[in-house]
Amino acid sequence: MKESDSIEALRREIREWLAASLPKDWRDRQRGDDIPGFLAMQREFFAELVAAGYATPHWPKEWPGGGKSLAEQIAIFEELARAGAPRMSLFFVSLYHAAMTLVECGTDAQRKKHLPAILNGEVWCQGFSEPGAGSDLAALRTRAVRKGDHYVVSGQKIWSTLGHFADQCLLLVRTDSSGPKQAGITFLLMDMKSKGVEVRPIKQITGDEEFAEIFLDEVEIPVENLVGVENEGWKVAQVTLSSERGLSLVELTERMALSLWQLVDTASAGGEGFSAIDIATRREIVDISGRIEALRAMLTTLMANRIAGREAIGDASILKLAYSRLSRDFTALGLRLGGKAALCDTHYTLGAGYETGNWMFDFMNSYQYNIAGGSNEVQRNIISERVLKMPREKMA
Ligand SMILES: Cc1cc2nc3c(=O)[nH]c(=O)nc-3n(C[C@H](O)[C@H](O)[C@H](O)COP(=O)(O)OP(=O)(O)OC[C@H]3O[C@@H](n4cnc5c(N)ncnc54)[C@H](O)[C@@H]3O)c2cc1C
Repeated sequence: MKESDSIEALRREIREWLAASLPKDWRDRQRGDDIPGFLAMQREFFAELVAAGYATPHWPKEWPGGGKSLAEQIAIFEELARAGAPRMSLFFVSLYHAAMTLVECGTDAQRKKHLPAILNGEVWCQGFSEPGAGSDLAALRTRAVRKGDHYVVSGQKIWSTLGHFADQCLLLVRTDSSGPKQAGITFLLMDMKSKGVEVRPIKQITGDEEFAEIFLDEVEIPVENLVGVENEGWKVAQVTLSSERGLSLVELTERMALSLWQLVDTASAGGEGFSAIDIATRREIVDISGRIEALRAMLTTLMANRIAGREAIGDASILKLAYSRLSRDFTALGLRLGGKAALCDTHYTLGAGYETGNWMFDFMNSYQYNIAGGSNEVQRNIISERVLKMPREKMA
């Protein structure tokens, strides 16, 4: 069978599975003001995905549904997005950042302990950023000192997505300050229930609490939780940061495409509170639709290059920039079309992407893409210096 035929067969299989398994009431059960409902719904659908083998196509083949090619993984993400299935936001760090770090850099004992636990719903967060270390992550200062069979860790992490729901944390700490910044960083696995860990959720402008600050006061972490080699955690962190391989952008772009046409349908059918579509708005819809299609095409090229191992420097940065701007313009269109009702709506569906049903929420939320995963300014630096070969500006 040709690869394209097998991917088509996989797509058909997922569509059939989704038609039978997608919970019809999931949006109601994942409302923004009902955190227990959100957690229960995520856990329920996650268990279904795991059992069907669609949660772990990127894991090695001994795991359910594992060993799939990147092309097959893309197909799974696209089908889930096109069917409007819930995004597995509670488990994204677990399935990608944590699992892939453990698969590539962990010990057998760490894999044996955590990979089955992840399939059973263990939630992970990523404790990398600090108040003085974000774009310049290597400047991190959270200190770990080895004492016998454990490290004693003190410091502060910030912007940890899901930190307040997490059971475990991928933690970057400084174990040596004497050399260059990247040297002297160590990668640890931290149980969030350890003594000395305090988690404070951060309320965002959307009203949502998606991430948290993590304060560490002499937290004892067993040496067996070291990933890789002491002082060489920077290399492990690069594995964590590249673990999702652009799949979330593929998924979000598909969701945006679906949502655009749902928006247009609702507005053209005279949905309650929606503005009529005038000529200027029609032009805007065409413009945004064209930009979504361009982004899809660029993503297809990027993924094909990634599969063939010939990705060009700067490609991912160009896509990330294009996506963050499009996301803002698209949600602004939704907000304008949704009129007064959209401005005043206080209900939304947690962790859902462009289908919260609340354009105000999605518009404010779109600003996160300017920063998360490397800020737009940093992406522009990469493009100007590495792609366009422009000289570095000298700071005064
Ligand atoms: C939604 C979201 C989820 C996140 N999840 C996590 C998570 O789970 N775990 C985690 O560890 N972190 C997480 N982060 C943190 C994220 O990685 C950092 O916010 C990001 O790296 C930027 O760092 P910073 O916030 O410290 O800003 P800074 O690095 O202080 O930047 C401040 C401003 O200065 C600009 N700037 C900085 N350096 C340069 C430069 N060299 N040239 C030009 N401009 C520059 C930036 O673009 C920005 O506008 C998340 C962030 C967001 C928004």
